[in-house]
Amino acid sequence: MSDDVDVDAVVVGAGFAGLYMLHSLRGLGLSCRVIEAGSGVGGTWYWNRYPGARCDVPSLEYSYGFDDDIAREWTWTERYATQPEILRYLEFVAERLDLSRDITFDTRVVSAAVDEGASRWVVTTDNDEMISCHFLIMATGCLSAANLPAIDGVDDFGGPTYHTGQWPRGGVDFTGLRVAVIGTGSSAVQSIPLIAEQADRVIVFQRTPAYAVPAHNRPLDPAEVEQVKADYPRWREVARNTGTGFGGHLAAPLVGALEVDEEERRRVYDERWAAGGLAFLGSFNDLMFVPAANDTAADYVREKIAEIVDDPELARRLSPATVIGCKRMCVDTGYYETYNRENVELVDLSGSPIERLTATGIEVAGTVHECDAVVFATGFDAMTGAIDRIDIRGRGGLALKEKWAAGPLTYLGLQVNDFPNLFMITGPGSPSVLTNMVVAIEQHVEWIRDVIEKMHTEALATIEPEADAEADWVAYVNAVAELTLFNGCSSWYLGTNVPGKPRVFMPLPGFLDYKQRCDEVAAAGYEGFVFGVAMPAR
Ligand code: FAD
Ligand code: NAP
Repeated sequence: MSDDVDVDAVVVGAGFAGLYMLHSLRGLGLSCRVIEAGSGVGGTWYWNRYPGARCDVPSLEYSYGFDDDIAREWTWTERYATQPEILRYLEFVAERLDLSRDITFDTRVVSAAVDEGASRWVVTTDNDEMISCHFLIMATGCLSAANLPAIDGVDDFGGPTYHTGQWPRGGVDFTGLRVAVIGTGSSAVQSIPLIAEQADRVIVFQRTPAYAVPAHNRPLDPAEVEQVKADYPRWREVARNTGTGFGGHLAAPLVGALEVDEEERRRVYDERWAAGGLAFLGSFNDLMFVPAANDTAADYVREKIAEIVDDPELARRLSPATVIGCKRMCVDTGYYETYNRENVELVDLSGSPIERLTATGIEVAGTVHECDAVVFATGFDAMTGAIDRIDIRGRGGLALKEKWAAGPLTYLGLQVNDFPNLFMITGPGSPSVLTNMVVAIEQHVEWIRDVIEKMHTEALATIEPEADAEADWVAYVNAVAELTLFNGCSSWYLGTNVPGKPRVFMPLPGFLDYKQRCDEVAAAGYEGFVFGVAMPAR
């Protein structure tokens, strides 16, 4: 072990969340160390370098709002920025705020344990370093723990394999190759069209078809950008006061899909389809609540797929049968059109899963589909995966993983009973992945910053949620989820993409209500939390 280090706070992760948390804690005059597994800042945008990776929230909104100078100095070039541009933005922010000097790269946190006597956490890294800190803040990301399915024979495959979330830094050249892509979620939907342009052949292995709406990406007009920049404070304010954290350009719907006639419904869907992006799911206010309303949106997208894909049988196989929106919707550029290419083939896994990888390909129902490279676009152990992969021990040696064995338990998605001074940014039980995540991240960072400031000023050693407050919050999150159609299919929101993970809806729908609740809790003296002057014994 190297020499022990003592800091006020350790932040794990240097993506949008970790960078802003570091900046905020410095603002309080606290010493802070960020530990990041990657070799640079960026988080999601450091790791996901697959072809076609870009945001699906408009760039002008998918960026920090906390610093007016940064917002003025940075200029987005496309409606939906590419991964390299978003990474450059986060590198720019890190440089502008001089953040990297407090970040340790290429280092993974492997364990963290409460030292009850000292009211501190002891954090251990894979470089055998031990760091003692008062506050431990997980900025580990909701979608950062790659999900590599346990398919037989992966080691037998003779060619290279890639996961979209661990893409090589130098890129991959697929020219002349037969490429298998496993999965049809957002990462696959973005990458397949570009891989198909380069590779000799693409074979897509689809277990469940996805709903995709067109991005209609375009270069941003400099005049439009300047106009938005001039109006940024109002934009940000609007975004922070919506249910999803982004204002979008289209007004929020005031009516339900079943409250208007067929002609009006089609007009609205046509308008949203033409506008492009996730706002399609905001066409009407009942789409995620009323099955018959949801059917009208699902039917509309299925019709579009049938219009775009030339082969009717292929269009049918690409058409999802599930509730639209219960899996995260995809935003595409030429995804369905790609299936009209001669060099693209779809293997439908709905009847029979992948049996194994062989030395030369992927075997399904006794047929080996020959390929030279395999892309796992198989997603993430979402929301809890990155936290679960660290051995976190609370009071009495309680393992967080054990506490969460039947599903994550948190209060406000921010803290866990028996784990004093441990915070999570966009933790399970908060709106997180159902929002423009930068807005949700800023709200969490600022809430955590404020409570730490209070503790510092009032010499409070610990903060921890009461067991009852946590239980009530979990019940509330479940009750809200029950009101929606999110339980209507298997999804990573529910953890069902990872074998053995409990089926629990992890994020909380409704950013604005949530934010107001957090503000009320703080205004009521941090209702539901207990402060200690010294670390209480278990
Ligand atoms: P991350 O960016 O995931 O950063 C977490 C960091 O923690 C990672 O760098 C990781 O290496 C590090 N880490 C984790 N565990 C450890 C450990 N034990 N030790 C050390 N380091 C660790 N959201 C949107 O709102 N809009 C979008 O358009 C959008 N597009 C996305 C596209 C892709 C391809 C993906 C995968 C996600 C997308 N998201 C989007 C969600 C995205 O994850 C968030 O918007 C945001 O980037 C999350 O920032 P973060 O800092 O919370 O986490
Ligand atoms: P994902 O949505 O979870 O998709 C994973 C895909 O892999 C699914 O089609 C899944 O099928 C399939 N799969 C998993 N295991 C499999 C197996 N054993 N055999 C066959 N197929 C298997 O993951 P993702 O595409 O990486 O996206 C994750 C999230 O990241 C998105 O929902 C979004 O929030 C974010 N993201 C955003 C963008 C963007 O547009 N900005 C881009 C990428 C990612 P099933 O559906 O049957 O499970």
